[in-house]
Amino acid sequence: MADQQRRKFLKLGLAGAALSAVQPLKAGELFSQSFEGKANGPVIISTWNHGLAANAAAWKVLEKGGLAIDAVEAGVKVTESDLTNRSVGIGGMPDRDGHVTLDACIMDNDSRCGSVAFLEGIAHPISVARAVMDKTQHVMLVGAGAKKFALEHGFETIKTPIPEVKAEYKKWKKENADLFKKPEINHENHDTIGLLAMDQYGNFSGACTTSGWAYKMHGRVGDSPIIGAGLFIDSEVGAATATGLGEAIIRIAGSHTVVELMRNGHSPMEACKMAVDRIIAKHKDLTNLQCCFLAIDKNGNVGSYSVYNGFNYALKTATEEKMVDAPFNRNW
Ligand code: ASP
Repeated sequence: MADQQRRKFLKLGLAGAALSAVQPLKAGELFSQSFEGKANGPVIISTWNHGLAANAAAWKVLEKGGLAIDAVEAGVKVTESDLTNRSVGIGGMPDRDGHVTLDACIMDNDSRCGSVAFLEGIAHPISVARAVMDKTQHVMLVGAGAKKFALEHGFETIKTPIPEVKAEYKKWKKENADLFKKPEINHENHDTIGLLAMDQYGNFSGACTTSGWAYKMHGRVGDSPIIGAGLFIDSEVGAATATGLGEAIIRIAGSHTVVELMRNGHSPMEACKMAVDRIIAKHKDLTNLQCCFLAIDKNGNVGSYSVYNGFNYALKTATEEKMVDAPFNRNW
């Protein structure tokens, strides 16, 4: 039995796992509440609508008594495989040079972690990140080195961009010739999946995977594969993940900041809000600067917060499966 399974500080059977006080939130109404909901037992949360299908796959692992680390990988693989998803995995949008470059990272309850960035032509970057964690002494592999490692380990390859995306890219290129001169990013096409799970043994794990911002500069890497920015776990405290403008999230080491704020006694929602406030304070121009955090503490409290309205997350427990609107600082 794995170490993590022996650590039974929660030891809640799924059948008996009850959810208490997970209240649906109305966006923007939560400034005075200390947390959004508390799950007694295993819980999975993930960013955006695509989180529902990812959570369902992750739950299948947890309900068999599986570990959080296996659940998070299985969950986000669903999103990576979805050819209709333009912001994660093989259906993702390309950079401005027409390359789909994928970023992903994974972290477990023992602070083990793995990451890949600027990876092309591999179907499941999250599994390559997992292999970096499990099979190497490193944390992060990028670009050609990450690809070489993936091929050596037999990971499935895929030709990107897929034809539909290639057609969209061609059209965009024609219509936006001037954009090549200034490194702007398109805020319509992004949305990482960050998925956090707590299993029945009380282990936390998280996975984060994305194709990044559409039409980014070639070589650009966002927050999503960076441990501490797009994802952070500390088993003594809890877990956090991020989505939104990666550059702003990196600047404040976003997910690590959220976890450290929880360590200092703040609820997940308060911690997410304080991280968002920090981003707001550090940027004079908030135009299109959407950043969103999602967190869970070791007691199963869940919280989120975003700069602008519109961010939501998928929640799954033994008794609940739903989308929750995140509270936010301002309207678009
Ligand atoms: N954080 C991602 C990035 O900057 C994009 C997103 O989540 O919207 O690449």
